[in-house]
Amino acid sequence: MNILILGGGGREHSLAWAVKQNPKCDRLIVAPGNAGIAQIAECASLDIENGDAVAGFCAENAVEFVIIGPEAPLAAGVADVLRSNGLTVFGCSQAAAQLESSKSFTKAVCDACNAPTAGYGHFTDAEQAHAYVDQQGAPIVIKADGLAAGKGVVVAMDLETAHTAIDDMLGGQFGSAGAEVVIEEFMDGEEASFFILCDGETVLPIGTAQDHKRAFDGDEGPNTGGMGAYSPAPVLTDAIAEIALNEIVKPTVAEMAKRGTPFQGILYAGLMIKDGQPRLVEYNVRFGDPECQVLMMRLGAQAFDLLHACAENRLSEVAPTWADDHAMTIVMAANGYPGSYEKGTVINGLDALPETSSEMTFHAGTASKDGQTIATGGRVLNVTARGATLQDAHARAYAMTKQIDWPEGFYRNDIGHRAL
Ligand code: ATP
Repeated sequence: MNILILGGGGREHSLAWAVKQNPKCDRLIVAPGNAGIAQIAECASLDIENGDAVAGFCAENAVEFVIIGPEAPLAAGVADVLRSNGLTVFGCSQAAAQLESSKSFTKAVCDACNAPTAGYGHFTDAEQAHAYVDQQGAPIVIKADGLAAGKGVVVAMDLETAHTAIDDMLGGQFGSAGAEVVIEEFMDGEEASFFILCDGETVLPIGTAQDHKRAFDGDEGPNTGGMGAYSPAPVLTDAIAEIALNEIVKPTVAEMAKRGTPFQGILYAGLMIKDGQPRLVEYNVRFGDPECQVLMMRLGAQAFDLLHACAENRLSEVAPTWADDHAMTIVMAANGYPGSYEKGTVINGLDALPETSSEMTFHAGTASKDGQTIATGGRVLNVTARGATLQDAHARAYAMTKQIDWPEGFYRNDIGHRAL
């Protein structure tokens, strides 16, 4: 089968790595890809948010199956265009992508199906928003309704911060994404991510993970796209996962089907867990990055069969085979990230790193230049390993980071500290 993956980060490198191992994969193309992906697949330059352009590329290259990595093409309706062109697609429709692209939409879905989540109000009028916050008190959470690259959420520990956030968001800080604000009850607890394949009807959990959002050790410093992750998440026990599946995920999927916009793809539920009870923090409609890297490391070649069955509405026929294993990924980022950082610095030592079914360095922001690998983004490498225990995966992954010679990069030394 000829397969196209859309995206060019660590998430897509891990997807490509897993898919490539499956004997059903004949030709693998990734658009745009990166320097690491180029070692295992063809990379193509393509406007991945333009459905017609992607469909045209698929026709020219006899692509049969498209896997959409990031949220932007999903929110832009690329999956819909590809499906209407007869392609098999892993990725949800534009209508279903609202579960990620609109927080008030998700809240309305939760209301309709009684899924446990934080109490909330939503406002376009600043005066009403301020009055609601005064009435509710702090701590309280202020969110821009739309996509704001993870920056549109303020967890306000005092009223002043909350009022400022309302003024900033409704005042245009995030453009149209902040034209509406969702104001939520503050939920206490431990966060974990739950990944569920959905084919519109059947749901199939494919793993749990926890990540580290802050830039520096001890969960200090600014928020980032994620500095590391591990799977499984010990806090998300089988019993809690079962509750989340029955009380949150299945009702959501049923509600989406009832609305005539069935969800087909990966549903990534961000959960807050307290006293054995999960509540929904947010949905994403794509794999997390770097959570995908640890899931793919654990699933390996079978990931292709699961994703393809999902895209063909055959999820009831498949199930993941789990080894009793753990995986960890450590993000190496450019010094200065998530603020400004230098681009074009040379990374040495990559050639000597192990590349096995349990050790792999996935590339995010990299490119090849004059035979060398250079850093082109903020998050640059995802050093990933698997082991019989989390300690084992941790030791292997950190041993690999020590082999990488990149003075202009940094990583956290305490990935997994909550679980270890
Ligand atoms: P991202 O996709 O980057 O995780 P986002 O912009 O979609 O972020 P959310 O996931 O809704 O936003 O919120 C970001 C973070 O803020 C959460 O991971 C959580 O730590 C915190 N948070 C959000 N809502 C609440 C809440 N109601 N109570 C406590 N913390 C919250």
